[in-house]
Amino acid sequence: MILAVQYEIFEYLSEIAADHEDWEVDEIFSVLMISSFSLIVHSYLRGRRLKIEIKSREASEEVASTLARHDPLTGLPNRRLLLERFGQARKRAYDNDRAVAVLLIDLDRFKPVNDVHGHAAGDIVLTEIASRLERLAVVTGGSMLARLGGDEFAWVLEYDAGTDAPVRLANQIVHLARAPIELVHANKVADSRKVEIGASVGIATCEGLPLPVEEMLRMADVAMYRAKRDGRATFRSFSGAMDAELQMQAQLETELRSGLQRNEVVPYYQPIMSLPDNMLVGFEALARWNHPTRGLLMPDIFIPIAEDSRLINELCFDLLRRACRDARDWPTRLTLSINVSPVQLLDAWLPQRLLKVLTECGFAPGRLIVELTESGIVQDMEACRTIIAALKNSGIKVALDDFGTGYSSLSHLRDLKFDSIKIDRSFVQDMAASRDGELVKAIIGMGRSLGMPVTAEGVETASDLSTLNTLRCDNVQGFLFGKATSAADTLGLLSRLGEYEGHRGASIGRR
Ligand code: C2E
Ligand code: CA
Ligand code: CA
Repeated sequence: MILAVQYEIFEYLSEIAADHEDWEVDEIFSVLMISSFSLIVHSYLRGRRLKIEIKSREASEEVASTLARHDPLTGLPNRRLLLERFGQARKRAYDNDRAVAVLLIDLDRFKPVNDVHGHAAGDIVLTEIASRLERLAVVTGGSMLARLGGDEFAWVLEYDAGTDAPVRLANQIVHLARAPIELVHANKVADSRKVEIGASVGIATCEGLPLPVEEMLRMADVAMYRAKRDGRATFRSFSGAMDAELQMQAQLETELRSGLQRNEVVPYYQPIMSLPDNMLVGFEALARWNHPTRGLLMPDIFIPIAEDSRLINELCFDLLRRACRDARDWPTRLTLSINVSPVQLLDAWLPQRLLKVLTECGFAPGRLIVELTESGIVQDMEACRTIIAALKNSGIKVALDDFGTGYSSLSHLRDLKFDSIKIDRSFVQDMAASRDGELVKAIIGMGRSLGMPVTAEGVETASDLSTLNTLRCDNVQGFLFGKATSAADTLGLLSRLGEYEGHRGASIGRR
């Protein structure tokens, strides 16, 4: 009835009746019945359509929301969802007298996997790590896992305050990331290639006052950075001292900036000897900072700061300029080795800049050896290849430094055509501890097969020297022959050897 009134059916009917006076009452009644029935059917269908529309809109909104809150590669929640859910996790934990920890997980050596094996391989690594983490999350309980982006994951853990649950979890994560990952699906060829990566984990806990998630992520990040600096594949828990250290680093950065202006960073020189005759063949320039108040600072304190703050180029060129000047007083047959940081390889103009310094100082390019660390060269193979080729074109020699600590393979060595290889001192020192020179022997053999002379670093004892002689190592460098010394002391050494005052060819005996 209401519908009839609403849709003015009676007026309509009376119009029909007037137009069709000849119609009988039952005919009018039939029209009335059919009309109301159609109306009911129409309203029902319209209602249903509306319901379906609402449902499908809700579903697509849900899909959009899921996509916006999840990482498409691994299916894990993303940073946005983590931030949204952290508040609930923290409330739940505090309501139940529990605590919340944030663990920041950053993969080690991930970029080389991408560069060397391709992005498909990188994706396999990320999904494999994500599923290992997810499996661990299932058994751990009270956990929320997210991929923050790149090779960085975060884990929010609710746990009983006062227990070491976050540390135990971090330990498990480091362990699970270490297991090799097969890349069989990467190129559809069942070559069962395997890569070994690792993870550095930073832990932030707040058992006292509840902290905002951004602050906990920052603390975890500081701790993770510390784990990386401490050698990777490990975890560190945030402490106030780390913040203090960061402030100290910021302070040192400011001081380094002005220290470079005042020429406080100077090269010290460590002798490099040839075998089996123990003849001096050159020096490696190692940076020292004559700090006005802190004394003589070693490179492990300030080189990372110079790298982070992009002061490293200025430092490197200043050092080279000074070294070229110092080396004017040396016999011209002696080589000068300098260290170039991995971050400097991002600068395509590096070879030209180095050459410019050499030209300014009148130093023959053929006497310069640029040392590139192995971990540096695998970070960007293409850029490296171009830079090495340009250096070699200008006559500068290129050595692969710290060999054995990085990720390079025999094919990289062959491909990049280094002029020489330096075995990291940890291998030389292990050789002494285990009386087992197998690894060093293998590297020397490999160098020989590629036509690349090998220098062993960190030679401290006569027995190291005798082993290296037996293995027919080409060059040696280490405290046995001398620590790095100032330019003046280096001249003193040269004159003791008879090299400075015109005599040539003396050798440094064993001390
Ligand atoms: P590196 O290039 O591997 O240099 C060799 C380091 O081993 C030097 O430490 C040297 O003093 C030390 N060493 C030499 N012989 C022995 C030995 O018999 N036993 C032991 N235990 N150590 C020995 P230093 O001068 O502290 O340099 C550390 C690192 O700092 C260098 O390692 C290099 O990576 C970096 N570095 C130094 N100067 C520069 C620079 O001018 N630029 C860049 N980018 N890095 C530099
Ligand atoms: Ca070096
Ligand atoms: Ca080295």
